[in-house]
Amino acid sequence: MALSRLKKFCIPENSHQVDDCVAEYGDNALILAGGTFIRGLEVRGLLSEVEALIDVHKLGMDGLVSGVGNVRIGAMVTFAALEQLAELHSAAWLAAVRDALACPPLQIRNMATVGGCLAASCPFYDLPTAFLALDGSVTVSGAGAQREIGLADLFVSLFENSLEPGELITELTLPRPPGRSASAFIKLEGTANDLAIVNVAVSISVDAAGVCEEARVVLGGGVGDRVVRSATAETVLKGQQLTHEVIEHAAAAVGQDIEPMADHRATAAYRLAMAGVFTKRALNQALSRLN
Ligand SMILES: Cc1cc2nc3c(=O)[nH]c(=O)nc-3n(C[C@H](O)[C@H](O)[C@H](O)COP(=O)(O)OP(=O)(O)OC[C@H]3O[C@@H](n4cnc5c(N)ncnc54)[C@H](O)[C@@H]3O)c2cc1C
Repeated sequence: MALSRLKKFCIPENSHQVDDCVAEYGDNALILAGGTFIRGLEVRGLLSEVEALIDVHKLGMDGLVSGVGNVRIGAMVTFAALEQLAELHSAAWLAAVRDALACPPLQIRNMATVGGCLAASCPFYDLPTAFLALDGSVTVSGAGAQREIGLADLFVSLFENSLEPGELITELTLPRPPGRSASAFIKLEGTANDLAIVNVAVSISVDAAGVCEEARVVLGGGVGDRVVRSATAETVLKGQQLTHEVIEHAAAAVGQDIEPMADHRATAAYRLAMAGVFTKRALNQALSRLN
């Protein structure tokens, strides 16, 4: 039985009740949000140590705010609710999130939450790649304290995050980028609704003369044990006019920052080649959105 040791199903209404449950069950307590990732663990028999499930639906954490300097998304906002953010459909800088939201099937979009997709720390998911390209950070709370973690520091390894036991992600913040900015996300998958073979999200900001001021290039889907930022490609882009040649050069550079793996979906060599191809496509897509 997958949850054979389950003793308690907590539905806390405030953070103190979360802390109480964590204090009682420690590492054997598991946060439950949309349950779409947890269900996969359960059917594989990977929850045999879990003694308490903490369902966080009654804690709120479902705000969705287009603020002056940022967009703030509560951890319990589902993908379907995020699609309702009006700015998502008009702002070029947020377009990578819009692109990535189109990937999961409707049933998953209705259940999966922003906090759950980040805490799962799965480099094969799509939303985390887009959120990292937009320089996202999370607010986390636990044991009466609160702290901010940049997404690059949240993702430690495959299925491993940097949260302390009992710490909850409460909110994701996406800062508004400077100047004229646009982003894009593209996924390569073997079949519809499959995990990514490779996915790429880029965000670029240019000044009045069209010179690239900021660039973020992020890759996921089997190119490392977490989503990977390509500092080498970003260096190629920054301070340059985004010409065809510069984009080609940046796309070729991503290979220096990734360690593609081989699995039943693709060989490492194919992932490496496609990482370059899809980086180029994503950069061209973002550039066309700028214009
Ligand atoms: C059939 C299927 C297709 C999918 N397709 C895609 C796809 O195309 N693209 C894509 O990006 N993803 C896809 N996914 C993955 C999906 O995005 C994740 O399963 C989902 O985001 C997890 O969120 P959840 O709310 O269901 O998390 P849960 O399953 O509830 O939890 C996930 C993990 O995070 C922890 N957790 C949850 N909330 C918090 C919190 N607030 N603070 C701290 N820890 C927390 C839980 O303890 C658990 O370890 C797919 C999944 C399935 C099952």
